[in-house]
Amino acid sequence: MSSGCTPTAKGVWSQTVSPFDASQSPPVPESNELTKFYWDAVREHRLELLRCSGCGHYVHYPRRICDRCLSMDLAPGEVSGRGTLYSYSVIMHVSHPYFADKIPYVIGVIDLEEEPGVRIPTGIVDCAEDQLRCGMPMEVVFKEVTPTLTLPFFRPA
Ligand SMILES: [Zn+2]
Repeated sequence: MSSGCTPTAKGVWSQTVSPFDASQSPPVPESNELTKFYWDAVREHRLELLRCSGCGHYVHYPRRICDRCLSMDLAPGEVSGRGTLYSYSVIMHVSHPYFADKIPYVIGVIDLEEEPGVRIPTGIVDCAEDQLRCGMPMEVVFKEVTPTLTLPFFRPA
């Protein structure tokens, strides 16, 4: 096993663990005290984000402090899974053995319906690349990527 994380988000959200057979599974997000609610909900095909109890702002990725009012009173809440496509990119480079037979594939950023400006990075599925347009309506879809890993993706609504 190997693990890694980006320098800016150390120990919070982007830490991943590469499974033993890396060609069979993508890097797996590491569930921790702060992110467990998110992964538990995804496993049940629900999308939950942290929401500030003080001002109602959604906070994503999960953090301990509201970036709008600095309250630390945050709680998970289910969101609709609907939004619009803010941006996208076609990935042509293999960054991990799992993706060797999957390029090209599309990743994107979704503006959350409940609060535009709160954005969810994600994989984009069920749409040809030349059909994508920024601003188009999108909806979440959950896929069992491996027998033990469910991930949220977005597709045109
Ligand atoms: Zn707040």
